Amino acid sequence: MTTLADPVPGGRPGDVQRATALAAELTGRGVHGVVLAYVDTAGIGRVKTVPAARLPRAAAWGVGMSPVFDTFLADDSIVTTDVLGSPDGDLRLYPDLDHLVVLAGQPGWAWAPVDRITQEGQGHPGCSRTFLRRIVTDAAERHGITFRAAVEVEWALGLGSAPGGEFVPAVSGPAYGAVRQTELSDYGADLLAACAAQGIDVDQFHPEYAPGQFELSVGALDPVAAADRSVLVRQTVRAVAQRHGLRVSFAPAVSAEGVGNGGHLHLSGWRDGRNLHTGGPGPYGMTDRAESFAAGILARLPALTAVTAPSPASYLRLKPSRWAGVFTAWGRERREAAVRVVTGTTGHREQAANLEVKPVDLAANPYLALGCVIAAGLDGIASAATLPEEITGDPARLDAGEAAARAVRRLPVSLPEAVAEFREDEVLRAALGEVLADAVTAVRLGEAAAVDGLDDARIAAAYRWKY
Ligand code: GLU
Ligand code: MG
Repeated sequence: MTTLADPVPGGRPGDVQRATALAAELTGRGVHGVVLAYVDTAGIGRVKTVPAARLPRAAAWGVGMSPVFDTFLADDSIVTTDVLGSPDGDLRLYPDLDHLVVLAGQPGWAWAPVDRITQEGQGHPGCSRTFLRRIVTDAAERHGITFRAAVEVEWALGLGSAPGGEFVPAVSGPAYGAVRQTELSDYGADLLAACAAQGIDVDQFHPEYAPGQFELSVGALDPVAAADRSVLVRQTVRAVAQRHGLRVSFAPAVSAEGVGNGGHLHLSGWRDGRNLHTGGPGPYGMTDRAESFAAGILARLPALTAVTAPSPASYLRLKPSRWAGVFTAWGRERREAAVRVVTGTTGHREQAANLEVKPVDLAANPYLALGCVIAAGLDGIASAATLPEEITGDPARLDAGEAAARAVRRLPVSLPEAVAEFREDEVLRAALGEVLADAVTAVRLGEAAAVDGLDDARIAAAYRWKY
């Protein structure tokens, strides 16, 4: 038995013994440090690190970090709410040992997501990972529903040697082009190798539409693990690129014009071991619950945008006819619909059927985004919501009267507009709890104020290398 005895505030029984064994294993594998990672309200990945040998202490007592980061903006300035943003107080970061991995793209380092816990051992109400876990646990307890989720990751790959903060695409070939894949053959192979070494189950990796853009998609996991994974994928994409003299931007818009980087969410609900999105009487085989879940998300998309598209740069991406899904429309395999129904192939539906939510980018904190989207869907189930008519083609072509008649609304065109929707949304605010809901509002309004008077090109430049 170790003297760092369990139970300890915030720790889990057995974690200290486990961390002690892990520390020895990590040191033996040449790991010197462990990155403790979380994502703040503004969507910025923030870290502390500890030497590998200190992992048992981190598992026992956590690692200190100020709660002030809950109200940091992307430019590191700080806003306040009634309870957050003060220089006072401390929180403990507890590594989740179940999700610790040795980083293949950063030799000498391991990585683990953290829960943020008070010095008294309570979950911190501003901890987005704890929030998502609560939403998922409630769904299981109250509705008997579990979820499988995945976050698609798109990024723009630039030359590390580009001057200043410029973006110079690292490849020149066409969208989805063989030229691009060949130009970055070594980078791509190293990235896939790093993912495999870290146990990341990659579905696909391909050159995307925009200059220098790539996308990687991964298999579905429980929502907390899916959010962790999206953070780890980004850490890996960035680290491998750096070793190739390349620079990565996950920003929603790398430049003011053109197609942006999305972070589409895939979600399926399951009950008694069955996928709710297939084998039912609803549209495309959806069960009643799956239809209501989709309808709940669709109805709340304007307010959700404050969480899923949280940056001023998000609104450079959220433009019609760019596959970003900027209208409250749904449809099967419709790439302009904000909610895309994916049925999977005949014979594979039980595994594959899911929903894709498109107006989400990688400035979004993935824990907040998944938690809020699930909360919206669960509210749809609670109210037995039904889907409006499916929209085919590009909803941008509908005239105002037609769009209104078919319940097709344009999503907010600016961050302040999204915040106004969010502030009116009792379901999302209640799901988040007052502390997190106020943090979301304050941070979004702070970001909007920070870019006041900037033109689109300067907004894109301001956020280009933040995410
Ligand atoms: N890049 C597009 C976006 O911003 C998505 C392209 C795709 O459908 O994969 O959402
Ligand atoms: Mg894509």
